[in-house]
Amino acid sequence: MPLARSYRYVEAWGMAAGSEARVLLPHSLEEMREALAATRAAGSSLTLRGTGNSYGDASLPVSASRDGTVLDCSRWNRILAFDPETGIVEVEPGVTLDLLWRHTLPHGWWPQVVSGTSFPTIAGIAAANIHGKNNFAVGTVGDAILDFDLLLADGSVRTCSRERESELFHAAIGAFGLLGVFTRLRLRTKRVYSGELSVTTYASHDLGEMMETVQAHVDDADYLVGWVDAFARGDALGRGQVHHARYLDEGEDPHPEETLGVAYQEPPRSVFGVPKSELWRVMRMLNGDRRWRFVNSVRYWQGRLEGAMAPRRWTHVEFAFLLDSLPNWKWGYGRVPGRGLIQFQPFVPRDRALDVFRDILRKSQERDLVPYLGVLKRHRPDPFWLTHAVDGWSLALDYKVTPARRDELFAFCRELSELVLAAGGRFYFAKDLTLAPGFARRMFPPERLQAFLELKRELDPENLFQTRLWRRVLGDQSNDA
Ligand SMILES: Cc1cc2nc3c(=O)[nH]c(=O)nc-3n(C[C@H](O)[C@H](O)[C@H](O)COP(=O)(O)OP(=O)(O)OC[C@H]3O[C@@H](n4cnc5c(N)ncnc54)[C@H](O)[C@@H]3O)c2cc1C
Repeated sequence: MPLARSYRYVEAWGMAAGSEARVLLPHSLEEMREALAATRAAGSSLTLRGTGNSYGDASLPVSASRDGTVLDCSRWNRILAFDPETGIVEVEPGVTLDLLWRHTLPHGWWPQVVSGTSFPTIAGIAAANIHGKNNFAVGTVGDAILDFDLLLADGSVRTCSRERESELFHAAIGAFGLLGVFTRLRLRTKRVYSGELSVTTYASHDLGEMMETVQAHVDDADYLVGWVDAFARGDALGRGQVHHARYLDEGEDPHPEETLGVAYQEPPRSVFGVPKSELWRVMRMLNGDRRWRFVNSVRYWQGRLEGAMAPRRWTHVEFAFLLDSLPNWKWGYGRVPGRGLIQFQPFVPRDRALDVFRDILRKSQERDLVPYLGVLKRHRPDPFWLTHAVDGWSLALDYKVTPARRDELFAFCRELSELVLAAGGRFYFAKDLTLAPGFARRMFPPERLQAFLELKRELDPENLFQTRLWRRVLGDQSNDA
């Protein structure tokens, strides 16, 4: 069968960037090799892509014209093996988190690290080295990966693990598709005794209190996340609610065979008779500062109310993928070119995080560029070469992009990134679209970045694997790599 291909518009998840590109859709290692050869013959660069859930340009081709080729791995998506005794699963690169939990949960296993959406592929989350709401406890997804096969630019395949090709193992996880193609991955999942979690809500009057609450529970929670009202000012700056979740112990759930089932986890498809797939239209009507201020206020007071109540049971899917319960909610930001959203997610060491985040919230309000959604998480360091995680905190902020204020917003985010850098912080490339050219050279320890670039030069001397993100954050010097 010939390798499937098309020309189409390839977009950042936040819709604020994109371009037409030649897209190849391999289904096997042979087709993947064919794609490498065809790209090389065409003198083009190759951008790897999963399901395109990176907010910015991490899986966009380098050029906004048609000469970049995108290798879409999402159709190569079989679960190759799963052991219900150990929870170890082996997958092709395009298997999504959604496919994975549906396969493992009925056997009592849940993916160890998930993102806030279930749509990313396993290769995409390995390439970004994603973190979950349990990053403080279990690390990033790289910590759950046992081994993988990586197809290199010359067509050879290397099997990497902590013991074998250890350097490449730690460099390729978090390399954002620059070193090679994940063609097979094996990872650990987590034993669970119920399809539900016990979730407690704590209201916080300000950001300081929210961080204290999270810190006070790092030893007794399995997941912790803070939802921040970025509109609140003065003494209430950074107010919101913390969700604390813990797995149920064996025997705590009287009906695990039911709650672990896929049907039990499926969220309802409609609300008051309205299909959820249409609810983004309601969000579209909310798309304005005053209305979002109101929504954030309601959420805060709802948190106060829930905070006074006993813990509730949530399904894994409801807790982990809360944002998926409103399909296509991003369209609420507008569905015409130039509109959309960006996420700005600084990671700051623990002793400076509160001051930096307060500063960011205050400046956003002063500039009248207030994020509609704010999410606070606690993190821990990990051994991967280009990791974003620090012993500290991140605050993910969703800013609306409009044609009128796009340039101002991007310049503002660059200003804010200087504050973060000065505090020893980092950024997470899966979320970025605004960092200044060359920023990567200032963000990572020089010897670490140098080692990565040397490895890139050794494995991919023709610089076949490229993305728009890397061109930008390396300062368009990726040909040096
Ligand atoms: C609503 C929402 C919530 C999110 N929540 C979180 C969160 O809580 N935590 C978090 O860490 N992230 C989060 N993310 C980000 C998301 O998890 C990452 O961007 C993830 O990488 C997306 O995977 P993907 O399959 O869509 O890959 P893409 O976005 O298509 O690509 C991501 C990277 O993977 C590379 N890549 C793709 N396939 C391969 C391959 N086969 N081999 C090598 N490299 C490859 C690409 O080149 C690119 O650099 C969220 C995103 C959204 C939209």
